[in-house]
Amino acid sequence: MFPLDIVTILVLYKSSLIAGALAFMHMRRQSHRQSGLRTLIIGFGLLIVGSTLAGWGAAGQMALEFWTLTSLIFGTLGYGLIYLGIHSLSRQRRARQGWLILVPPALFVLAALVTGFHTDDRIRSCLFHLQAGLFLAVAAWPVWRDRRHDPLPSRLPLAVVLAACALVFGVGSWAILARPDYVDWIAHGFALQILGNFGIAVLVCGFATDRAERSLRQAAEIDSLTDIGNRRWLEARMPPIIQAGDALIVLDLDHFKQVNDRYGHAAGDATLAATASTLRQALRAQDLSARMGGEEFLLFLPGVKDQARAVAERLRLRIEAQTALHQDYAITVTASLGIAVAPSDGMGWEQLYQAADGALYEAKRQGRNRVVDHADLTTPAAAAPLASAGPGLHTGPVPPVPAPDARPGP
Ligand code: GH3
Ligand code: MG
Ligand code: MG
Repeated sequence: MFPLDIVTILVLYKSSLIAGALAFMHMRRQSHRQSGLRTLIIGFGLLIVGSTLAGWGAAGQMALEFWTLTSLIFGTLGYGLIYLGIHSLSRQRRARQGWLILVPPALFVLAALVTGFHTDDRIRSCLFHLQAGLFLAVAAWPVWRDRRHDPLPSRLPLAVVLAACALVFGVGSWAILARPDYVDWIAHGFALQILGNFGIAVLVCGFATDRAERSLRQAAEIDSLTDIGNRRWLEARMPPIIQAGDALIVLDLDHFKQVNDRYGHAAGDATLAATASTLRQALRAQDLSARMGGEEFLLFLPGVKDQARAVAERLRLRIEAQTALHQDYAITVTASLGIAVAPSDGMGWEQLYQAADGALYEAKRQGRNRVVDHADLTTPAAAAPLASAGPGLHTGPVPPVPAPDARPGP
């Protein structure tokens, strides 16, 4: 091993903690609701105090009895708080038995009073390394464990860095007991911990940014009333090229204005939420459903082929059977559905949408509460385009798109 000056290394170690704490403070100002950051700031802060005391003590500016015990206690509390902070950050709630982090420092104080072990460099360093390694290992665990139900790009790297730091401390504690040149091992270990601290700081900030970005994306793409995607959400998920047998269904609630007029807007909202939930339950995992605006929903059913009509009919019946409860009202509605199934590969989905919308128009015209397939439309302008459609958006003729106010009224 090449020589490293332990005093310089400890100063750099402290600098990396200061940089980390400043990064967390900045992050916390940006996103106040991100849990765990305050605890991490305090944790890093305690480590800074602990390493400062150790530095002063090593320079002979403090009584041995005092600095050895206080730096160990600050260090132990610091890594305990880092564990709690990472836990809160990952799980978005506090660790249940958080007070347990007080046990190691309490035991150290008791043992120090009884045995005076803390003035022995080897024992004190070994215990410091052991507790730091253990706290970092248990911090890595929730970050790793939550990867499926709360996936974030920075989650896996953060778990790896925490685990690597834990391993370095673990190896350090072994070296302190087993190696005569253990001071070199400690110096090299702390050199790696400097990198680890920067890694933790960058990845914790990345974690908070990933979360903030995700919630912004959700706000932009998820309809807050019905909790399903909106048009933007759907457009981001639709395949650019539709394949033969993929179907679009445009679903519009019938006479919905009357629901609002009769029961109030809030009752209308409850009906929209109930409809979205009915749709979600009725569809397969690979299907997409979105609220396009108002009381219109769009469903994309990949590879459904000639089953599209049966699926649409089933949805119509489910909506007819659903009851939305609001205050003393039990509200029922019906829906009209227009279907278009792609006859060949390579259509743009907006083209298919216009065909399905044409079919919906026809369903409204025929009296509502029914399913109309674009393939059954008999007017030449409406029936022709899908079979001859070429690839891309708006290529080839499209069925007439009714202006909203041209639709049959209630
Ligand atoms: P049609 O059978 O022809 O579709 O008649 P309709 O009454 O359903 O259609 P129209 O376009 O005349 O009215 C749609 C109504 O939907 C008017 C609007 O107030 C209501 N609406 C749109 N968005 C919302 C919403 O978010 N909440 C509630 N409660 N109502 C909404
Ligand atoms: Mg309507
Ligand atoms: Mg409508």
